[in-house]
Amino acid sequence: MNPIELEARYSAHNYAPLPVVLCRGQGAHLFDVDGRRYVDMMSAYSAVSHGHGHPRILEVLTAQARRLAVPSRAYHNDRLGPFLAELCRRTGLDAAIPMNTGAEAVETAIKAARRWGVRVKGVPDGRAEIIVAEGNFHGRTTTIVGFSSDPDYRDGFGPFAPGFRAVPFGDLAAVERAITPRTVAILIEPIQGEAGVIVPPAGWLAGLRALCDQHRVLLIVDEVQSGLGRTGAWFAFEHEGIRPDGVVLGKALGGGVLPVSAFVAHREVMDVFTPGSHGSTFGGNALAAVVGLEALRIIDEEGLVERSRILGDHLLARLRGIRSPVVAEVRGRGLWAAAGIDPRFAGAREACERLLQKGVLSKETHATVVRLAPPLVIAREDLDWALDRFEEVVRELEQSGQRPEAA
Ligand code: PMP
Repeated sequence: MNPIELEARYSAHNYAPLPVVLCRGQGAHLFDVDGRRYVDMMSAYSAVSHGHGHPRILEVLTAQARRLAVPSRAYHNDRLGPFLAELCRRTGLDAAIPMNTGAEAVETAIKAARRWGVRVKGVPDGRAEIIVAEGNFHGRTTTIVGFSSDPDYRDGFGPFAPGFRAVPFGDLAAVERAITPRTVAILIEPIQGEAGVIVPPAGWLAGLRALCDQHRVLLIVDEVQSGLGRTGAWFAFEHEGIRPDGVVLGKALGGGVLPVSAFVAHREVMDVFTPGSHGSTFGGNALAAVVGLEALRIIDEEGLVERSRILGDHLLARLRGIRSPVVAEVRGRGLWAAAGIDPRFAGAREACERLLQKGVLSKETHATVVRLAPPLVIAREDLDWALDRFEEVVRELEQSGQRPEAA
């Protein structure tokens, strides 16, 4: 059996991968088993912002793996402190709790907010409410999918945890109406990623900040995908000059090689955690800490935030410059864009398959959106090459005309 057949035979069918078998990656390039080279315009859902196999990441990874990898949090290790200190310095917050995946860090934020609500705000235990946005994506645990508005993520997985209220994304008045004396937190993505790179109206985050201050509610931003330079700022919350009470980070924090995530918050929030109240066997291990610290340093020292801003402006300008009925809409910020494909011409999946044939790796989100989020280290020429291919696909779809079944 070939690798695709083997996966089909032995794997759960919880993904629908594009038909390509990758075996090597370098920078913004990926290679398949036949030696064909692709430009990576997906970067593993933003986990590979540093590019594949960044030499500095590989260096600290291999050196630390030989020294000490997983001592557990039953003991101190000499790598965790410097990593968490840098996370706090970067976010402007006081304390961090390291986890592994994004979903775990979101769960951590939910636990922190609820306990803060009970112990600090005085909400009765078990009655805390958290306001979330419709269209959210915060991960796949049962609690998290319980407050998703997407039936695909929820169907058959209930019963779900109570205590969440969803309001339309970007609607400040709806948030205000949803606040009750039991509201402990507002948990949002500053730009919704999986929903299709949805940018909220200007002023929304600042408005949320003011509401939270007024009603003594925590503002928690999930920057698992938007953070660490992706939007042309270190964190997307900086675009509105605000400081949240808690930030969730993941994906690129692992330098493209490990799952490393964290919840970073004010001391008052973090102090609700006491020994035994939360943890993870692998969270904060020495190997992850070294990789996480190096990932942060590289973003800084290689100017990846600036790169994302400048190349991102270029990416969006080029996408918006494609005048075609096939491209229904272009959204994005920094090196993070979504092109809405008019379903009368093709599904986003077909567009991604055509891109794959031309040597560009992308991935659809929902039926109509092609996401374009290359590693932040991508060379301008590679970005332009990939965009030339995208434009070719658009013209092909345009020429093949509207699909009869969709007309
Ligand atoms: N939050 C956001 C905003 C995400 O985009 C994702 C993953 N796409 C997650 C959380 C979950 O991260 P993970 O898959 O590492 O659990």
